[in-house]
Amino acid sequence: MSGKFAALAGLALITAGCAPATEPVASAAETERTSVVASPELATSFRQSAFLEKCEDFDEWDKPAPPFELLGDTWYVGTCGISAILVLGEDGHVLIDSGVEAAAPLVLDNIRALGIDPRDIRYLLMSHEHFDHVGAHAALAEATGAQVITSPEAAKVLASGKVSADDPQADIHPAMKPVKVDRIVSDGEVLNLGGKEFTAHLTPGHTPGAMSWTWNACSLPWQPPVCRRVAYVDSLSPVSADDYRFTDHPAVVADFRRSIAKVATLPCDLLATPHPSSSGMLDRIKDGGLLDGAACVDYAKTIEERLNDRLAKERR
Ligand SMILES: [Zn+2]
Repeated sequence: MSGKFAALAGLALITAGCAPATEPVASAAETERTSVVASPELATSFRQSAFLEKCEDFDEWDKPAPPFELLGDTWYVGTCGISAILVLGEDGHVLIDSGVEAAAPLVLDNIRALGIDPRDIRYLLMSHEHFDHVGAHAALAEATGAQVITSPEAAKVLASGKVSADDPQADIHPAMKPVKVDRIVSDGEVLNLGGKEFTAHLTPGHTPGAMSWTWNACSLPWQPPVCRRVAYVDSLSPVSADDYRFTDHPAVVADFRRSIAKVATLPCDLLATPHPSSSGMLDRIKDGGLLDGAACVDYAKTIEERLNDRLAKERR
């Protein structure tokens, strides 16, 4: 057990914003409400290596995974195959993506395993409006009471449960349980929760309503003080139903290219993606860690190549 986690037992968090070194530890009343308390026994399963032991590349979407720290206040609480990201804050927490419907209890278990009360989650955000990333939104919105926040295009899909007719995969995704959308955000809009800021980036391409999010992940009080820029970037994969051709939809391709260019310029010390393996998360953990200032640029390049390959194939 690392020293960091030895200090976890019985100790409360939380920092917000990007200056944890100078912020006083939260008052007793605050810590009671938002504390993260883990036993030393549990702490070993919070390491990134525990995820590698349980999960494989492109693993099952509903396979239980142990939660682990991405960096400081930012945690992975998803399944082996689908990400769900929990960001801890003094005034409540933020969850990005919920996963397939069957993942709801797994994500909730992971949140509780960290000592977090799901009802302290204030915002439920998303990457894109497909059942493998928002299929559990209805269940998690109910369990947490969090505000569901999404893009204008995705809002229609979440509210109806039906994938947009403009979606390249329109006819191949099952319907989802509808969920009430509480707030719609525009490109560049910043959500503020207790001083912690989350910037919404509209990155359409894979779906019309796809989004990416950036924020500063900051260390917990007992960790060496540091903040890093996290980018949770959408899949942006150019896949579709069999009869859909991107070349027939120049506006979609133009959106795609704008999104790719945007991703390359995001503040990005640590990249995470809705399918962990799309950005090589397991390999990157194996190779020494997820901090990589070039990750978003590299990811954008890879996506651009995939899009170009797809368009070339359609022209043949
Ligand atoms: Zn998708």
